[in-house]
Order: sequence, then C-alpha cells, then structure tokens
Amino acid sequence: MLIREFISKENKSQMITTLLKHYKVGNVRVKLKSMKNHAHYNVDTGTLELSTRYKTIKSSQVKEFLITILHEIYHAMDSKKYGWRKFKLDYEWEMNLMIAKNKDEYKDNKYEIEAEDFGQRNWKKWNSKFKKEGLI
Ligand SMILES: [Zn+2]
Repeated sequence: MLIREFISKENKSQMITTLLKHYKVGNVRVKLKSMKNHAHYNVDTGTLELSTRYKTIKSSQVKEFLITILHEIYHAMDSKKYGWRKFKLDYEWEMNLMIAKNKDEYKDNKYEIEAEDFGQRNWKKWNSKFKKEGLI
C-alpha cells in the first residue's frame, strides 16, 4: 500500500467541507487566517477560523488536524444551537465561574471539555472514512 507523506491542499479542503456539511455548520462564518493552530472558533465574533499556514499537511499530523477541526466544529455547533451572541455570553460566564472557583478558565471550562471530548470520540471514524476515500 502506498503511504503518502503529504496530504494535498485539495484533499485537506475536501475533508473540511465534508465535516462542515455533515455537522450542518456550513452556514457558520468561516475566515481564512494565517495562524499556528489548524482551526479556531472565535467566540467573540462567531467565526470559524481556518489556518492558511498549512497548505498541505503531513500524514503524521492527520490525527491532530482532525481532532482540532472537530473540536472547533463543536463550538460552531453550540454557537448555532444557542445563537452566537448567547453562546458568547454563556462561554464568558463559564470562564468567569472557573476563575471564581480558582480553576482554569479553559482546561476546566465545560464547553472546552465537551468540544475536546467530541474531537477525541469522532476523529477515528473520519480517519477511516477519509482513508477509504483515498483522501489521506
Ligand atoms: Zn475550544
């Protein structure tokens, strides 16, 4: 079997498009941005930011890539469910609550825990699917 070292830009975008459609967040505002993380959901503006820094990704980075995208999509799903303004307020409330409890505003934040859990639970299924489709 052919082991690919790099995933092309086209295959990478196709995976993102598939995931956005599947989780019905295709309508969420998306912005391309040069940044270190593969993706970031900007709670303040209700925008899903995707990195332009990695045009191609290494096969060894697929796991991290999928978990990150799924994690951020989960925030976008929450935002769609509650409306982004309300989600922003709820998220800030949760951050302040954690600070008041002397906990970590991100690590102990329930929205972050749920999003990370979602990424960890679902990346393998997408990994096999994309493999079968020859995208990775
Ligand atoms: Zn997050």
